[in-house]
Amino acid sequence: MNRFAQKLAQYSVSLHHGRPEILQVNVGKLCNLTCVHCHVNAGPKRKEIMSRETIDRIIDWLAKTDIPIVDLTGGAPEMIPDFRYFIEQVRLLRPHRHIIDRCNLTILFERGSTDLAPFFARNKVEIIASMPCYSQENVNAQRGEGVFEGSIAALQLLNSLGYGTDPRLPLHLVYNPVGTFLPPSQANLEADYKRELKKHFGVVFNNLYTLTNLPIGRFATYLRYTNTLDEYMELLIQAFNPATIDGLMCRNTVSVGWRGEVYDCDFNQQLGMQWNNGRPIFLWDVDPHKIENRQVMTGDHCFGCTAGAGSTCGGAIL
Ligand code: SF4
Ligand code: SF4
Repeated sequence: MNRFAQKLAQYSVSLHHGRPEILQVNVGKLCNLTCVHCHVNAGPKRKEIMSRETIDRIIDWLAKTDIPIVDLTGGAPEMIPDFRYFIEQVRLLRPHRHIIDRCNLTILFERGSTDLAPFFARNKVEIIASMPCYSQENVNAQRGEGVFEGSIAALQLLNSLGYGTDPRLPLHLVYNPVGTFLPPSQANLEADYKRELKKHFGVVFNNLYTLTNLPIGRFATYLRYTNTLDEYMELLIQAFNPATIDGLMCRNTVSVGWRGEVYDCDFNQQLGMQWNNGRPIFLWDVDPHKIENRQVMTGDHCFGCTAGAGSTCGGAIL
């Protein structure tokens, strides 16, 4: 039994799926950036991307469900050749599904992507954008030289299309710590972001989501390199908060990989913890009515989601 499972047992709680509300699809590891904290190990040389055939199989499966939200992530999801096709197919489904794109902002100015922002606005795609700080120095340190300037320009472009002000075009930002510490208060930090981004760049947005860095992927490599992995794990374990359990994203999310394989969340996906009923299964092998009550596969990394105020793809839990 891993340390997280032991902790749950200590509190007499178990972790099972509820009714699925979000299908989170990781369309691949290709990205224009190579951020230090990346849990996907994404980058420009990665070859793993979702094919159109896999997209079609996912759409067919989705059509048999009423899962209301489709959340696209990567890598930079926009870089796969069939990204627009995917969104257009989801838009054709009835009942209507809400679409989220997890965007690193700088992708909006890459060659071949300059029509993406109006495409998002036309298709009412919600944007959740990484922005680890409102200061140039911190963002460039974590994500690379010039990323801050590109991100600000992208936010201004999205604002000019109505993002952040039109209720049909939500724009949320994501903060994650630039180092081995837990995020500060989400409400306080959101107020700081709103004030600073408006004052210096005229940028507006809806919500700030604070995320904890999980000790996996490139961030785990960084922790090992700086000899701080044990110390960081201890920080997460000590900050375990049982009140976060009910709000964990694995309870209402199904995570799908670039080949269509299924996981409890994007973190388990990066660790290869694929659903397995005697053999690895793909989304199209899953009976959508049998997801509820399925036990979630856990590991020590799960302490990253239950530390302090908790952490999900939608920010703090408490
Ligand atoms: S954190 Fe996001 S933007 Fe940065 S390399 Fe990973 S996938 Fe790309
Ligand atoms: S990493 Fe977080 S979301 Fe994933 S299974 Fe563990 S607790 Fe759940």
